[in-house]
Amino acid sequence: MATITKPDSTNKGNENYSFRCADAGFTGCSWEAKGSSPDEVLQKAEQHGREQHNLTSIDDQTRDKVRSKIRHAA
Ligand SMILES: [Zn+2]
Repeated sequence: MATITKPDSTNKGNENYSFRCADAGFTGCSWEAKGSSPDEVLQKAEQHGREQHNLTSIDDQTRDKVRSKIRHAA
């Protein structure tokens, strides 16, 4: 039986924080970010928003919303 698992090469340290784009209101978007800190995840989410959702300006409100949706896995 073949199991499909991604190698750990991209997983640096403990990436305990995750964020799903759909949780921020972009239903239908399956993009997900992981990082070792909320700021790291937020940064990735901002970049994704700019590139994929044409968010040219991300204000504090949007940032707070994203931040509130970041999950912390123990
Ligand atoms: Zn998205």
